[in-house]
Amino acid sequence: MGHIKKGELTQEEKELLEVIGKGTVQEAGTLLSSKNVHVNCLDENGMTPLMHAAYKGKLDMCKLLLRHGADVNCHQHEHGYTALMFAALSGNKDITWAMLEAGAETDVVNSVGRTAAQMAAFVGQHDCVAIINNFFPRERLDYYTKPQGLDKEPKLPPKLAGPLHKIITTTNLHPVKIVMLVNENPLLAEAVALGKCYKVMDLICEKCMKQRDMNEVLAMKMHYISCIFQKCITFLKEGENKLETLIKSLLKGRASDGFPVYQEKIIRESIRKFPYCEATLLQQLVRSIAPVEIGSDPTAFSVLSQAITGQVGFVDAEFCTTCGEKGASKRCSVCKMVIYCDQTCQKTHWFAHKKMCKSLKDVYEKQQSEAAKHKSQEEKPGKLDVNSNHVNEDQPEAEVGVSQENSTPDDAAEGEREPGDEAGAARAQDAPTGPQLSEE
Ligand SMILES: [Zn+2]
Ligand SMILES: [Zn+2]
Repeated sequence: MGHIKKGELTQEEKELLEVIGKGTVQEAGTLLSSKNVHVNCLDENGMTPLMHAAYKGKLDMCKLLLRHGADVNCHQHEHGYTALMFAALSGNKDITWAMLEAGAETDVVNSVGRTAAQMAAFVGQHDCVAIINNFFPRERLDYYTKPQGLDKEPKLPPKLAGPLHKIITTTNLHPVKIVMLVNENPLLAEAVALGKCYKVMDLICEKCMKQRDMNEVLAMKMHYISCIFQKCITFLKEGENKLETLIKSLLKGRASDGFPVYQEKIIRESIRKFPYCEATLLQQLVRSIAPVEIGSDPTAFSVLSQAITGQVGFVDAEFCTTCGEKGASKRCSVCKMVIYCDQTCQKTHWFAHKKMCKSLKDVYEKQQSEAAKHKSQEEKPGKLDVNSNHVNEDQPEAEVGVSQENSTPDDAAEGEREPGDEAGAARAQDAPTGPQLSEE
């Protein structure tokens, strides 16, 4: 076949394009085995069969074409679109993923200079943006598990590649979540292992910045996770279970409004320490964060998270107060103002939240009564009525009971650890925690 010209399709190739839209995978398979069909043929706009399949959201067709040798990086489209761009525009997450796994390059731009991620963001396909920006093939990590050059040992012990890859590919960059992921894996939760991991991430960061097609998003992500790992190491060196102390430090709120100042400072510091000061992304982040007073919106986490995973569109989604995970649904039964993934996250946050719960409850009730004033109400103003209208139904009664039991000893332990925090202790006393959570 050799040279492929735009628009010079054989009869079978024309049929293939139709079958991709309306036919079955079997029909397409039969056509693809014909001598008169080239898998990378081009229609008059320079679209390949794979681009058609991606745009039409046909995952099975995409897989079939890739098996038949479709070129995922074909760049003959009249406006410079690639199959990955069509996949991202269609908003199909599986196809976007399939293109990336097949080796789609993420930094190719269309005729107006936009990458696939930028095009997807433009049309509001934020899930696809997140998938593209966070794609990091396992092979790129496995490279470091073999000794390179004069090294006697690999930079990354092979057993660490799996757990590290899991963290690298996360779309939730909340520092508490990252520390939780480290803490749940005994192989990782150890200073020597983390030291190797963060050095490998620094190397990947450097590679992302020095390669011809720079990837600032991935570089920033690697650098940021590396910084969190270095914090973990600092805490681990202090003794047993120190990652729990780090999580507490990240969640501890200041007295005036409960804002987690340490967390904000850690994230700001990591961004500032990004070693490539000429990077556009760094300058953007600094411009967005620098004028914001600590405690005001946007937080450094939201700015960073938006820049890296592109999750701007999730305004309606609920995020866990503790770990930032999307889709949290368990509300604090007292104040209704904070939301968690599960009991573990609620329990982890309780030492900080207990100081704010009562005042948040007042805020909530004020909001409710103001909302009630605005509508003519027939219903009784009873507290339960108000609650049942607004509490997420997913929260089981048992949930509250269990977390209450657990939070009481935690509470006591916290008191021992911080004898100096008299204000906190006093506040905890005039707002007895047990009874409050077990209400309802
Ligand atoms: Zn959570
Ligand atoms: Zn509460």
